[in-house]
Amino acid sequence: MGSPQDEFFKEAVKIVGEKYVSADREDIIPYCRDEVSQALKAYDSDYVVVPGTGEEVQEIVKLANKTKTPLYPYSYGTNLSGATSPRKGGAVVVLRRLNRIHKIDQETRTATIEPGVTWSKLIFEAKKVGLEPLPLGGGPHTGGPVGNFNLGGGSTGSMDMNDVVSLEAVLPNGEIFRTGSAAFQGMEETNPYFRIAWGPNMNELFRGSMGIFGIVTKMIRRLVPVRAIEEPIQIAFPDIESVVGGMKDVTQLGICKQIVATNKYQTAAIAATSDVFHNQEEFAKLEDSLPEFLMMAKISCHNEKQAEVYRELINDAITKNNGKIITFEGYVKESLDMLWGGSSVVAIHYLRHEPHLMAFVYVPPHMIPGAMRLAHSLLDKLDYKMTSSSGRTIPPRIWLAPWERTECFMMEYDIEFKPEDQESIDKFRQFMPMYFQETMKYGSAQASAGFFRQMEPGLLPSYSKLLRDIKKSIDPNGIMAPSQVFKDL
Ligand SMILES: Cc1cc2nc3c(=O)[nH]c(=O)nc-3n(C[C@H](O)[C@H](O)[C@H](O)COP(=O)(O)OP(=O)(O)OC[C@H]3O[C@@H](n4cnc5c(N)ncnc54)[C@H](O)[C@@H]3O)c2cc1C
Repeated sequence: MGSPQDEFFKEAVKIVGEKYVSADREDIIPYCRDEVSQALKAYDSDYVVVPGTGEEVQEIVKLANKTKTPLYPYSYGTNLSGATSPRKGGAVVVLRRLNRIHKIDQETRTATIEPGVTWSKLIFEAKKVGLEPLPLGGGPHTGGPVGNFNLGGGSTGSMDMNDVVSLEAVLPNGEIFRTGSAAFQGMEETNPYFRIAWGPNMNELFRGSMGIFGIVTKMIRRLVPVRAIEEPIQIAFPDIESVVGGMKDVTQLGICKQIVATNKYQTAAIAATSDVFHNQEEFAKLEDSLPEFLMMAKISCHNEKQAEVYRELINDAITKNNGKIITFEGYVKESLDMLWGGSSVVAIHYLRHEPHLMAFVYVPPHMIPGAMRLAHSLLDKLDYKMTSSSGRTIPPRIWLAPWERTECFMMEYDIEFKPEDQESIDKFRQFMPMYFQETMKYGSAQASAGFFRQMEPGLLPSYSKLLRDIKKSIDPNGIMAPSQVFKDL
């Protein structure tokens, strides 16, 4: 535990003010837990620090180097993979006071934001000038795009992952770093808008970095236009092969803004109103009324003439794959139309069931059905059971999305556990390493932040050495998010 007598504490008070540093357990715990940490080992920090500006972040980083205090960046902690667990104590650096949108620029279609800007704030402000960020959400609207990028997240069915133009970070050694054209001196003001300015695209060093290469204090992100017609087309598929085929063909048309699919258990969990969710019989009826898989393809176009052509192209592509356009009514239509439209209602619906880990596979489309069968067989092996609000035992709820294009599809299984039931937690703990090993053997590249540490042995030694060398050179005192990606760094 930290103490107000510690040098770090006393100096941090001078930087951010008394109100924004704490060594009290009740202040610390909320920043050291997430949904998944209920089933995994929990780690507590010694302090919480809440800086208000990029300059204060830099001063805190310099202080941490002086006092050898580990720092763990934390935007909103909405990741579902233990990514903000402070494994080596130290201080959690909460970034939500850095919540300014510096600029929404219509000419370049970009937003310049700080890490405390939430998805909901960005969506709200960008919509005022006919723009929006993609992915729309990347999770609950209480989380933020900067945390999402550092988590390695993205898609939610979005078709563009080149979302970051340039960024500013405080490196672990306390220096300011900028990427893209903002890497040229003075150009952070005159022209920070060229993504690939000199040498490799260094934005990507931060994607999925979990904070180990520094604290991002500013980011210029792409926005996309909200057009006159923004139409989610709902398509029913009878099985996994059909939905994957339909998703591949529709993605390859290159006309959709977002594409995402759910199995019927996921669709039901999202669509149900509170009344239905808590009524076994009604929920069972809802589950039974839904197609095995539902795909949403969102078109975004200028006028009805263009929309007609798009609808026809989509219809041709899905018909070949046993898909059928369907329309819903009542509350089901209302909830599903909100899906990906930037609604926190959807996230709230999605989080109503038991706590869960998002277990992913990332493979080319043709490997998705095999990956799904593999996940099911691993669950069977442990006799791992999940139930829905209907009281029935169900397979895991699934999301499926193209990860930009068709070189990679993402399938997410929501693996639930009951926090109050030790047997359930034990099974969860047995399942996770088995899942990572077996899916990697199958050929799935894993990108589940929070579990990176377990995956390093599977990497090419040259790859992990390069990343380790970068880390060591900019973090000589090992203070920035130690042990988050590399067990020992
Ligand atoms: C219901 C639900 C649905 C979700 N769906 C999706 C989804 O579809 N796609 C998706 O990608 N994610 C999804 N998520 C995960 C998560 O909510 C998002 O990725 C979210 O945007 C993370 O933002 P955050 O501000 O909470 O980040 P945090 O959880 O605070 O941080 C995430 C990681 O980034 C690091 N970090 C945070 N801020 C900084 C910074 N400024 N500099 C350096 N490192 C930093 C943290 O240390 C941590 O490792 C979902 C989560 C929920 C609860």
